[in-house]
Amino acid sequence: MLEILRRIVQEVDSAPSFQAALDVLVASVREATGTEVCSVYLLDERSNRLVLMANEGFNPESIGVVSMTFDEGLVGLCASREEPINLQDAATHPRYRYFPETGEERYNAFLGVPIMNRRKVLGVLVVQQRENRRFDEGEVAFMVTLSAQLSGVVAHAKVLGQLEVVRGSRTAQTQIYQGTTGATGVTLGRAVVLYPPADLDQVPDRSVDDVDAELALLQQALEAVREDVRALDERMADSLMPEERALFDVYLRMLDDNALGGEIAERIEAGNWAQGALREVIDEHMQNFALMDDPYLRERMSDVRDLGLRLLSQLQQQETEDTREFPENSILVGEDISTAMLLEAPLDRVSGVVAATGAANSHMAIVARALGIPTVVGVSDLPVTSLDDAEMIVDAYLGRVFVQPSRVLRKRYKDIIKEEQQLVAGLDAYKQRDAMTPDGRRVALHVNTGLMADVARAKDRGAEGVGLYRSEIPFMLRERFPGEEEQRQIYRQQLEAFAPRPVTMRTLDIGGDKDLPYFPIEEDNPALGWRGIRITLDHPEIFMVQVRAMLKAASGLNNLQILLPMVTTVSEVEDAVALIHRAVAELQEENEFEVTLPRIGVMIEVPATIIQIADLARHADFVSIGSNDLTQYLLAVDRNNARVAGLYSQYHPAVLRAVRYVVSEVHRAGKTVSICGEMAGDPGTAILLMAMGFDMLSMSASNLLKVRKTICHVPMERAEALLNRVLAFDKPETVRAEVEAELSELGLIDLIRPKSTAAAATAT
Ligand code: PEP
Ligand code: MG
Repeated sequence: MLEILRRIVQEVDSAPSFQAALDVLVASVREATGTEVCSVYLLDERSNRLVLMANEGFNPESIGVVSMTFDEGLVGLCASREEPINLQDAATHPRYRYFPETGEERYNAFLGVPIMNRRKVLGVLVVQQRENRRFDEGEVAFMVTLSAQLSGVVAHAKVLGQLEVVRGSRTAQTQIYQGTTGATGVTLGRAVVLYPPADLDQVPDRSVDDVDAELALLQQALEAVREDVRALDERMADSLMPEERALFDVYLRMLDDNALGGEIAERIEAGNWAQGALREVIDEHMQNFALMDDPYLRERMSDVRDLGLRLLSQLQQQETEDTREFPENSILVGEDISTAMLLEAPLDRVSGVVAATGAANSHMAIVARALGIPTVVGVSDLPVTSLDDAEMIVDAYLGRVFVQPSRVLRKRYKDIIKEEQQLVAGLDAYKQRDAMTPDGRRVALHVNTGLMADVARAKDRGAEGVGLYRSEIPFMLRERFPGEEEQRQIYRQQLEAFAPRPVTMRTLDIGGDKDLPYFPIEEDNPALGWRGIRITLDHPEIFMVQVRAMLKAASGLNNLQILLPMVTTVSEVEDAVALIHRAVAELQEENEFEVTLPRIGVMIEVPATIIQIADLARHADFVSIGSNDLTQYLLAVDRNNARVAGLYSQYHPAVLRAVRYVVSEVHRAGKTVSICGEMAGDPGTAILLMAMGFDMLSMSASNLLKVRKTICHVPMERAEALLNRVLAFDKPETVRAEVEAELSELGLIDLIRPKSTAAAATAT
């Protein structure tokens, strides 16, 4: 059964068009189930009808003609109930309806299963048979499994607009993709596809002007790989049998002009660049191999793939860094865009980021937010390889991306950008103001930093200190761990820029979704794995160098505070504190720098630390809530996973109640408590946090003025009343709605999203 399923899915995946995929599907399912009829009905959202899109067994004229609402027929019943309908004698069912267009005879047995994606019905897959019988459990399970596997293909076709193309009613060219907001804002620009080296699947298509030059590159790469293969053959001469060495001959023949070499050249002549042409050819071979039943031949897939990777590596070596062009308003597009990829791009030319993976609080999204770059993540249907150089609009407020936008849409979004610029200009008035509520309560606002660029923006906006310096960011920009003196200089710049205001430096927080290119960590479950303090306590040599560099950097300034990330147990704090004490003692003994013991804080990110908050507060000088991770762990929702992004909410009552509990317990212990997760930088949640009595809120510089404006307009009394109301609610959506209603009433809703974005999005 598994083999049949695999085969059908492969055939569908490798079909040249969506309609061909549906046709292959119905033919294969009819054959595999031994039934007489197989049909796919898909939902047309405009008419809200389920339309027969492909069929084996009925009159072919009925395709695209027969349709029904959710209230009609057995297909409608299956869609409205969202469960399989298995009937022995369909015609006697009260919901049975006869469609003369189908030329349908009397089919007794009926089995329909809904095609679902992200809780929505996309269509129904049906088999029918003359024989009067009920489908058995195995058959139902087969259809359900198949439908679940195919739902992604249908969803993908839907976003690509292929459903409309098939029905011949599509006119507009704009393609719309939905993801999640990574960093708010709107931008228009051109896509620059970023892809990691040595990953064939992610190489984008790109048109070439100079076909001959591209063909020459291919020839060089082919020759270099031939050389490699010959050298390998010689090296193995003594250790391999002649028949085993025959494989090298096969490799050489595969590189010939009448094999892979020629096929790639043809694609280049058709206009694609060498790397894109290579991807196309290898892809095609992979799909053909996957359809083969012979296990030996299927094994040859890995040989073709291996050759493809060798050729790619050669082509990528020939490519120099400078050939990559970033036009003004480049929008970085990729399957997965890491923080390092973002930071390596020429940021003065980058106006947006769009990634197929990731979620709102992925590390890259947080950094993009700090840089004020509109970002949409988790666009799972994004056809990345075909987007290079495409014109795009990124509406990061709505988490939406428009490719080849219409003129009307472009005009609307240009107006929104103007509106945004006015909003930003209006915030300038808050640069010099105190964050003081109208009823006279001050709230301390600090910034989160990581890059030097953050410092100037933070100071310009009147930050009162640094609540979180993400020390992993400078580590990400290097090719090895930075040395002690190198680190001292980096930290000194931060500390000096803000002195005498405090700078809270977090010790290296890598692991999870924060990778260092030179220290890869491969784990099945990275969020629950080796992260933050767990790594640095296992590697005191890394921890000590960092702490010594921080202490030296603070010499004579004395504005350093050290913050420990991802703490789970009291003993981790004890061990880290002991190491910090040791570093202070060492440096005092060395007597080169004037060093004092800094205040040491603990991040509250792991649920266990909430329960043990009183114990931890005793061991620390201060506490800072990392609400990004705390939300992830409290709700058991990977902050980096687009599939569950809808569940990740900082308005979740459990998050709000937990955060409030921490504030009251830390205050009871006589210590200070701040918050440095993204919750602090959102005007909606910031009102709730100020009402909870935090000693300080720390956020990215791009949110500082919005939050300060909010505080200046919301009396503490009103914020406290709002907090008390929402703490009694039991759902994130109702909390959010209440907070947004309050912001609207106060005339502050624009701080969350410009008025016209929702309207513009309908103008496709
Ligand atoms: C957090 O988890 O809230 C936090 C501030 O740390 P990071 O986002 O860098 O993990
Ligand atoms: Mg964290």
